[in-house]
Amino acid sequence: MTRSPAPLPAARADDDPAELLRAHGLRATRGSLAVFDCLRGSDGALTPDEVFEGCRASGADGIDRVTVYRALDRLAQAGLCDKVIGADRTGRYLARGTAVGPLFECASCHRIVPIADDRATRSALRQLERQLERQGLQAPDAALMIRGTCTDCRS
Ligand SMILES: [Zn+2]
Repeated sequence: MTRSPAPLPAARADDDPAELLRAHGLRATRGSLAVFDCLRGSDGALTPDEVFEGCRASGADGIDRVTVYRALDRLAQAGLCDKVIGADRTGRYLARGTAVGPLFECASCHRIVPIADDRATRSALRQLERQLERQGLQAPDAALMIRGTCTDCRS
């Protein structure tokens, strides 16, 4: 998982996606906008195939898989999404803003979701940072992935 040093603030529903793309040096094409909307509308990380299906389901016709792959690459390079590689070696994409923090991956279905960024999570991360410091380690670009079993796979 890659991160730029300055994460964007969490995306708000009222942000104009086209303006956001242009502000990051991207052209606001129909394909890029459909892919970006799909990522921003998901609470978990999506594979390129899931993004493709999401675009089709939202009525964005004329968009093929190649367009989706290229748009995901460009969005990741521009820092508008993060690519996360799961234990199944599959790349999944999360809109930036949802990915700033620890992630949970289901070891069974490989669904990846952000762990709630609440007081308890932040406190646990601070404790982890202090532990690293005691060991003389620094991790300014730490990526934390917790693996377990999701609700769907448990039932
Ligand atoms: Zn699962």
